[in-house]
Amino acid sequence: MSKPTVGIFGLTGCAGDQLLILNCEDELLDLVELLDIRDFVMANSARDEHSQLDVALVEGAVVTERDEAILRHVRQRSNMLIAIGACAATGGIPGMAPEIDRKQAFHDVYGDAAANFELAADRGRPLSDFVQVDGIIPGCPIEKHEFLGAIASLLQGNPPRLKEYPVCTECRIRENRCLLISDDALCIGSVTRAGCNARCPSLGVACIGCRGPSVDANFPSLEALLVSKGYAVKDIHDKLGVFARLPEPAEAPCAD
Ligand code: SF4
Ligand code: SF4
Repeated sequence: MSKPTVGIFGLTGCAGDQLLILNCEDELLDLVELLDIRDFVMANSARDEHSQLDVALVEGAVVTERDEAILRHVRQRSNMLIAIGACAATGGIPGMAPEIDRKQAFHDVYGDAAANFELAADRGRPLSDFVQVDGIIPGCPIEKHEFLGAIASLLQGNPPRLKEYPVCTECRIRENRCLLISDDALCIGSVTRAGCNARCPSLGVACIGCRGPSVDANFPSLEALLVSKGYAVKDIHDKLGVFARLPEPAEAPCAD
């Protein structure tokens, strides 16, 4: 059986997901044995930029028109496209602070060189706002075990399989003390997709939702609970908006 052809790409992001793939040192030889990796500029500058791919793994949000053009080209040459990491899956960090004028922000940071960037959107947007996405590997960055599990699924022609329940379930399994209930911390593990083994609450740090919303995430219920504990709605929305892609304002959980 021929190996599936694979490309790994980065748009606007920190490249942490691509680095995590390269850091799978014990598994890298198996990966190159199983996969025909054609285009992965972080690993090999000799690129095959045009052949058809069975699977494309794309990191980063769409911020600039260049990002959008790369993404559309990758989509057109790929049978299956998987968004890897928070930025690609939900907009992540580049999607934060929607109220900020991005053109002004680019000018503040880059000065006159800002003219070199044509923005594709009002904020960092997930891949699914532009092209069909066949699956995601969440996280900031992705988890190694989920990446390797996703490769196993992809080798069988299936998209990655993810946990649907929230981080709270992993907290319960680890018998953590609940930071929300016991300490009144602004923890959003109850609406965040599991898979990190409740890394942050296990260290006494409230979950900030880097893996994006869990299936059936109940934002109104969490918001009501946090309000009852004295949190302002704006602070709750700010926290949820860091990674969880909130509903657009018209559908937002509750009014202030
Ligand atoms: S600490 Fe956070 S993630 Fe853990 S059970 Fe409590 S609310 Fe859920
Ligand atoms: S506990 Fe929350 S913030 Fe921490 S790694 Fe898991 S999903 Fe991300």
